[in-house]
Amino acid sequence: MTFDVDLVVAGAGGGLTAAVRAAELGLDVLVVDSDPHFRRGNNTSMSTAMIPGPGSRFQAAAGITDSPERFVADIARKTGGTADLRIATALAHVGAELVEWLADHVGMPIELPTDFAYPGHSAPRVHSLPGRHGSALLRHLLDAADRSERIDLLVPARLTAVEAGPDGSRVAVVETPDGAREEIGTRAVLLATNGYGADAALVATHLPEIAGAHYHGGEHSRGDALRIGGELGAATGFLDAYQGHAALSAAAHTLVTWTAVMHGAAVVDTGGRRFGDETTGYSEYAAALAARPGGRGWLVFDERIDGLCRAFGDYQDVLAAGAVRTAGTIPELAAVTGVPAAPLESELDALARVAAGEHVDRFGRTTAQPLRAPLHAVEIVPALFHTQGGLLVDEHARVLDPAGAPIPGLYASGGAAAGISGHGAAGYLAGNGLLPALGLAYIAAGHLARSVPTSRSRTPEGVR
Ligand SMILES: Cc1cc2nc3c(=O)[nH]c(=O)nc-3n(C[C@H](O)[C@H](O)[C@H](O)COP(=O)(O)OP(=O)(O)OC[C@H]3O[C@@H](n4cnc5c(N)ncnc54)[C@H](O)[C@@H]3O)c2cc1C
Repeated sequence: MTFDVDLVVAGAGGGLTAAVRAAELGLDVLVVDSDPHFRRGNNTSMSTAMIPGPGSRFQAAAGITDSPERFVADIARKTGGTADLRIATALAHVGAELVEWLADHVGMPIELPTDFAYPGHSAPRVHSLPGRHGSALLRHLLDAADRSERIDLLVPARLTAVEAGPDGSRVAVVETPDGAREEIGTRAVLLATNGYGADAALVATHLPEIAGAHYHGGEHSRGDALRIGGELGAATGFLDAYQGHAALSAAAHTLVTWTAVMHGAAVVDTGGRRFGDETTGYSEYAAALAARPGGRGWLVFDERIDGLCRAFGDYQDVLAAGAVRTAGTIPELAAVTGVPAAPLESELDALARVAAGEHVDRFGRTTAQPLRAPLHAVEIVPALFHTQGGLLVDEHARVLDPAGAPIPGLYASGGAAAGISGHGAAGYLAGNGLLPALGLAYIAAGHLARSVPTSRSRTPEGVR
């Protein structure tokens, strides 16, 4: 049996993890991506680069006790028990190894922010990079791929089909924009093509509550994995699941970090009223904001929070766009935002009393901080970031058929695969987009390497 390559990775986002991992395990890899601008245009590059790694050495160095089991319990709690816990468990157990591998083998300057907790995480376990931006994460993965003689990159080239090859092999059918068609013989294909967020018709069908919101994800997330996997008889699941975000700057069209909320910021509608416990999570808050009059609102915070947000490159962009309004008093803030002063004053006063332990928030918010002048506000709109439903996979990232049997030579990762956030938007925990993207890709590479004769692969003992 001859192969052009051992693995074709379709999608140069989180899928690059599989390429780098497979190459270091001795496999030859071709990566194809349909987007000539993928370096700045795919979801991984647009992300805040937050990856959960429960039990990592970075946590140990910071004196944080954590474990994969604790993370799985958090996922079960946040998703109301609806998540696929088999996949969640597999990813929870690979998270620490993944972030350490990214540091040691890819060369990423991994760090662990410990100054606040993201909604739903019971321990600081979300690792990131300086600047908190996915463009740096993707650049490191691409640099590692460039350094490997075993990895080739073909861009722009779109995977359009996966066919059966001789003796159980696969043929990846790839088309370039000039209409050329390539057939690549391979042991396996990893579908790392993300979800269907850029396909308005699919979003309207599966995610009606967020269909009217701004889509802030990769334009090549067109549901190709659903189509290609479907042609091979793959099962799908959780198609109603998505990550939303309630804090996209209306003026800058850039993310205002939810860190602001976790440090004490309030979210009010255009009438100056809060409408829930903001700290439950930014994902579900997107639909809540979309349902307010005008489908927009304001994130209100102070100088202390502004200082903390400046660690985020995205917030720097919001500042540079002039989207942050500032005022010395609440009435002045009302004047510069157009929000009525009286309700705004009453909401911020109530939150200050929650912070002082004198008042119980009507929405149940417990982590408040008094906001002190000067005050800042950013107009925000809800957004759809990525879809979380996709092809059902097993704990080795193998795509499954409706009977639960793996489809030979087919893996899926990231938004192409069904995620670990249960149904809807409320189950999403920070980092649970990138963990399935990088983690399932990492797992797929290890699984494939183990199935290749040892004279070919360099699979060390105990590799995942
Ligand atoms: C602003 C923002 C911030 C976020 N922050 C975080 C965060 O901090 N932590 C977190 O966990 N998640 C975050 N997410 C979600 C996270 O970015 C995604 O879940 C994750 O990046 C998905 O990775 P992926 O590899 O599946 O897709 P992508 O990174 O989008 O890569 C898919 C690639 O496939 C290519 N492609 C598509 N179809 C084809 C085809 N047929 N053939 C070839 N190539 C194809 C695309 O061009 C693209 O380059 C964020 C998302 C956004 C929008």
